[in-house]
Amino acid sequence: MIPEDKIKELKDSLLSDKQRLEEKIETLSDMEFGDAVGTDNEDADETEEMANTQSTIDLLEERLERINDALTRIEMGVYGVCQSCHKEIGVDLLSVDPESTLCKECKAD
Ligand SMILES: [Zn+2]
Repeated sequence: MIPEDKIKELKDSLLSDKQRLEEKIETLSDMEFGDAVGTDNEDADETEEMANTQSTIDLLEERLERINDALTRIEMGVYGVCQSCHKEIGVDLLSVDPESTLCKECKAD
């Protein structure tokens, strides 16, 4: 079992990650849908920039989903259990990657 205080620590880190991601996504969404009017960018540049912004948002949302998953697992009391082999995910791995759903062995596969 993962010690309670360690889970609390990881949860705090997940929650602050989550907040940071949500703020970032909001900022990027504003950039994308906000007033691009008034800039002297060529249309092509602007389209490319928007595509980059969208793919960045996609990546961030993917990460956010993983974080929300991890938080749900904490609530359900199944946090830190490998979803593949159902063994415990080591605390050392969770410290580096708190939203990990796989143990070291399964990750390596
Ligand atoms: Zn595993």
